[in-house]
Amino acid sequence: MKLYNSLTRKLEEFKPIVSGKAGVYTCGPTVYDYIHIGNWRTYVLGDLLVRTLTWNGFKIDYIMNITDVGHLTGDNAGDADTGEDRMEKAAEREGKTAWEIAKFYTQDFLAGYDKLNLIKPKQFTKATEHIAEQIELVKKIEAAGFTYKIEDGIYFDIQAYEAAGNTYGALSTLDQREAGARIEPNPDKKDRRDFALWKFSPSTALGAVVPKREMEWDSPWGVGFPGWHVECSAMSMGYLGEQFDIHIGGEDLRSTHHPNEIAQSEAATGKKPFVKYWLHGAHLLVEGGRMGKSLGNAYTLADLTKRGFEPLALRYFYLTGHYRKQLNFTFEALGAASEAYKKLRQVAGSWLGQKGRTSLSQEKLEKLQGLSLKFRQAVENDLNFPEALAVVWEMAKSNLPEQDKSELMTDWDQVLGLKLTEPPQKVKVPEEVEKLMAERERLRQAGDFSKADKLREEIEEKGFKVEDDKIKA
Ligand code: AMP
Ligand code: ZN
Repeated sequence: MKLYNSLTRKLEEFKPIVSGKAGVYTCGPTVYDYIHIGNWRTYVLGDLLVRTLTWNGFKIDYIMNITDVGHLTGDNAGDADTGEDRMEKAAEREGKTAWEIAKFYTQDFLAGYDKLNLIKPKQFTKATEHIAEQIELVKKIEAAGFTYKIEDGIYFDIQAYEAAGNTYGALSTLDQREAGARIEPNPDKKDRRDFALWKFSPSTALGAVVPKREMEWDSPWGVGFPGWHVECSAMSMGYLGEQFDIHIGGEDLRSTHHPNEIAQSEAATGKKPFVKYWLHGAHLLVEGGRMGKSLGNAYTLADLTKRGFEPLALRYFYLTGHYRKQLNFTFEALGAASEAYKKLRQVAGSWLGQKGRTSLSQEKLEKLQGLSLKFRQAVENDLNFPEALAVVWEMAKSNLPEQDKSELMTDWDQVLGLKLTEPPQKVKVPEEVEKLMAERERLRQAGDFSKADKLREEIEEKGFKVEDDKIKA
């Protein structure tokens, strides 16, 4: 099986550290708001990888973290220690405690996780439940001589790390590093690339009367909270070992968060190569542009369900793009994916329960073997799911007996995860759509077809398709 490794920038044959096993870690959500369809694309990538490896007989240890503390608003922009804590900020916004915020959005995340039929990791590890492990990691980095203290926290010292013969930032792409450099860094840092390992609660740092943080802990350096990057190193190594096979995340994590994870981990373990393969998923765009809460296009699963789309139709939509290419979300494209998905599920459903298989002719046997091989080659070629879907359709349209089609589909759906051989999920039709349908039916019965057609358009804009019986004479 071949995977594109961001570390070597090459397509490589996957060779696990321990034969037959694979340790996989995905950077999970920060639970301060609803998860959007961009985030879900990245979690679906983790799922597809884990499913494909499992299908290939690997025994998987899969870990995903839940960030419920310490992720500051400036983190993703390149300077890893500026801004407010996302959890505390959300608590203020919603008039709840940070703990309530974490609980609420974690539950929402887990519900969506099930709806998209994502394989559960061995454990979802929460940052707040691994504070001691994070402190231990920082202590190791300190003992290795790669930390320093400034007014607001303990920092990782990249120059000292490089002076000791280590390379920092092998994963980064240059343009993103420059983008990061546009952020004004904390002037007390020795190097703009340095990042916080432990941040002091404001009251400790300033000695002033400021609101007390809800999430803070004691540490050898003073009361505070861990820097965001620390949790992923501490928990991934804690559960998968100091060296493990695959680490996944969205492409925005490639130039700061992941290089920082590598630096921390290898500083703590004395240069043991941390992760063998790094996979980065390209972003989801919406209507050709960036998605964001402020742009009003950071759609959630609930937004799609309200418009009548099943979560698994979104999953099908993701499969239509290769994970290393940006994918453009539009409701039109989702509508097309949804139609294709429903059709596929319908035909796959019609093959179920076919009994009395006859032996295949030589020609059909060759066709079946050829399709099997093509599907396998597609998914094993750096998870090329668009190609795999094309093979699924080729098989569906072929003249193979339905019993054989059904068997292939059941096998392939272990990696596709589309529940193609299960009864469809029920979609609840929203009340407003029900009303429009009733009104349209009344107009049709009364012969007012032009008004009825207008309502049909309105209903379809809401993502529902109208199928009519003949009008009674
Ligand atoms: P965050 O909660 O911001 O840390 O993001 C969680 C995960 O979603 C990370 O792996 C991000 O890289 C990923 N992510 C964020 N935005 C997008 C997007 N537009 N498309 C795909 N993945 C994204
Ligand atoms: Zn991470």
